[in-house]
Amino acid sequence: KGSAPELDPVRLAEWDHAHVWHPFTARDWWESREPLIIHAAEGVELIDLQGRRYLDGVSSLWCNVHGHRHPVIDQAIRDQLDRLAHSTLLGVTHPPAIELAKRLADLAPPGLTRVFFSDNGSTAVESAVKMAFQYWRNKPDPEPDRTLFMTLGDAYHGDTLGDVSLGGIELFHAAFGPLLFPTLRIPTPHPYRDPQRRSPDQVRDHCLGVAERLFQTHGPQVAAVVAEPLIQGAAGLLVHPPGFLKGLRDLCDHYGTLLICDEVAVGFGRTGTMFACEQEKVIPDFLCLAKGITAGYLPLAATLTHERIYNAFLGSPECPKTFYHGHTFSGNPLAAAAALASLRVFEEEKTLETLPPKIAHLRHRLERFARLPQVGDVRGVGLMAGIELVENVETRASFPPAWRIGARVCQRARDYGVLTRPLGDVLVIVPPLVVTIADLDRLFDALEAAWNDVR
Ligand code: PLP
Repeated sequence: KGSAPELDPVRLAEWDHAHVWHPFTARDWWESREPLIIHAAEGVELIDLQGRRYLDGVSSLWCNVHGHRHPVIDQAIRDQLDRLAHSTLLGVTHPPAIELAKRLADLAPPGLTRVFFSDNGSTAVESAVKMAFQYWRNKPDPEPDRTLFMTLGDAYHGDTLGDVSLGGIELFHAAFGPLLFPTLRIPTPHPYRDPQRRSPDQVRDHCLGVAERLFQTHGPQVAAVVAEPLIQGAAGLLVHPPGFLKGLRDLCDHYGTLLICDEVAVGFGRTGTMFACEQEKVIPDFLCLAKGITAGYLPLAATLTHERIYNAFLGSPECPKTFYHGHTFSGNPLAAAAALASLRVFEEEKTLETLPPKIAHLRHRLERFARLPQVGDVRGVGLMAGIELVENVETRASFPPAWRIGARVCQRARDYGVLTRPLGDVLVIVPPLVVTIADLDRLFDALEAAWNDVR
């Protein structure tokens, strides 16, 4: 309960403020507050040093799947620890990585049989981008002019410079402009952000029309189209109009280029199916996975692709077609053991089959929230949703950023026992897949109360 000297909350807070540089965290906000120090967890709850419990409303950054301290996953990691904590995949191999590659290849959409491991979402996408780029140079009839990537407005694919180049969120990416490669940008396919307020179908057709015109001008130079399928998470939980992903796949096929699906956030059941692209019957050329791959336990990522792509990388020292890319902890055995255990839990607990009533209830609570004042939009897919708070519902005008409405609501929600992290003024609801209907009510009750208090 914080009595051990190493768990003294005052000293820890002091040291945190003195030494820890927190990712994606505004310093003035952080340093003016007592840090919330999470010390333990159980199921869908996080527990702070004082023993207070919080429902993990964002799955510890969208990665927890089966809850914290799941006995099957805990035990699998312990068992693996008794054998081998780490060994490289460069030039040697180990059973957990082999077995996991086989399991992922069996689970993924047909044909994605080759698995490249790395250790976080950013590297999963970066690997796909570099593979796609090199593929066009390596293949028997090379197409070296294919150097351009086509991306979506407000895209987020991670924080390496390659991923930031693909990204389109001004706040995160503008500072690095001079370091980035240019991309061909399709407008953000989301009706709420459409200045002309067209219907979802019209927005889809408009965005695909822009993509088609970009292909007509630059087609033979396009190395790949990169997209988050169905919903753009970091952009503010922007749900794509139905048929958009399928339309992109058709354009890629027509113009003979590759499709990279970034399922870092949406893979592993988050949207109601194991992989989001299944919902539009789309098979990408690269499927990027991370976050939920280990049920949120340990860092791991995988980039899956077809044998056709892999076969273009058959090289020798004198003919360097090798993919010279990889990380020290790529495919780490502990993480791979956690991932295998998570897939066992998916089967044993029939996780995907438990989702439809929870998704329906989440939708019902979203619609109820939408009736509160100054709620501009509610939206989501599966167990991944956002609530956009706006100053003026009619004009859709945002609150002044300095008011930090989203952050203040989330701060207040902690007093009601819910931990969530907003994206600007969009409240984010991404609970572990194992939440119950009662947990969802607790989450929404807290957010409603917090919004009523703050506004
Ligand atoms: N791609 C998407 C769609 C994401 O949502 C994220 C993280 O939120 C990433 C990539 C980057 O993953 P990571 O934070 O593990 O590098």
